[in-house]
Amino acid sequence: MDKESKIYVAGHRGLVGSAILRKLRALRYNNIVLRTHQELDLTRQEKVEEFFDEERPDYVFLAAAKVGGIWANNVYPAEFIYNNMAIQTNIIHASYLFNVKKLIFLGSSCIYPKQCPQPMRESHLLSGYLEPTNESYAVAKIAGIKMCQSYNRQYGTNFISVMPTNLYGPNDNFDLETSHVLPALIRKCHEAKIKGSKEVEVWGTGTPRREFLHVDDLSDACVYLMNNYDGDEIVNIGVGEDLTIRELAEMISIIVEFEGKLRFDTSKPDGSPVKRLDVSRLNSMGWRATISLKRGIKETYKWCLKNSVF
Ligand code: GDP
Repeated sequence: MDKESKIYVAGHRGLVGSAILRKLRALRYNNIVLRTHQELDLTRQEKVEEFFDEERPDYVFLAAAKVGGIWANNVYPAEFIYNNMAIQTNIIHASYLFNVKKLIFLGSSCIYPKQCPQPMRESHLLSGYLEPTNESYAVAKIAGIKMCQSYNRQYGTNFISVMPTNLYGPNDNFDLETSHVLPALIRKCHEAKIKGSKEVEVWGTGTPRREFLHVDDLSDACVYLMNNYDGDEIVNIGVGEDLTIRELAEMISIIVEFEGKLRFDTSKPDGSPVKRLDVSRLNSMGWRATISLKRGIKETYKWCLKNSVF
């Protein structure tokens, strides 16, 4: 990308899109096109094509998606499959129609099978059954990957796909029903501290293992790949290290200074037992994450307090 290239960030108000926007601005990319959800409903094909016709972006970061944690994915599967399929189909097809030079599609580590060998390599895609709690979301993301690859093959486009691990950071969703585990536990521990509660409820058994990447590392990797990688193969983005949900909850308790106990609610689902990405492909391209989990949680908690999110 040149500094004057026209860049469209789809989903710029979300966790990922807002981080990409911060990164692009910090790097002095000044010709950025944005539309809020209110201004442009990305599930409407005609509206999306009108927008691309009018703006003719050179580069597209496809970070618009309907996302949520284990509970929301399990309870609203229709919304997850419909919205994600519609948004990505419209943007990818319009990018082809209006000659976008390059597009980066944001997938997710949940595209890999539930019983995937660990760490999960890019070649494990479509090698087994998916985790049922987020199957609808995962199937939509897999369709997005295949769409990018198919367009590259038939139309000669340059559409790349990246698979981030579990993300966190500023502008995350902190709603206790629909959020992911890390923001939920920051909020629960903070509120328990303020109220003087003795216990915080953690869903599941606490034994599942997850990997967490700060969204500022993700945005750095996305801009890096936009500038340095062309290819059909998907690329994992993560840190390559994981911890149990119990260990995560203990780390958050210490950072937030909640001194009570953790209570595990085993009536809630655990989801995948383990999800750790093999990031050797990305590392071999010269990129590595730099924000440690402790530092990332501390900064995210500070951001929450500053922005009065609870
Ligand atoms: P997943 O990675 O797709 O399973 O999504 P989540 O981030 O929602 O959940 C990760 C793990 O954290 C699961 O085992 C959840 O049961 C567990 N977990 C523990 N407490 C919470 C909580 O308060 N909210 C969420 N979303 N998950 C929790």
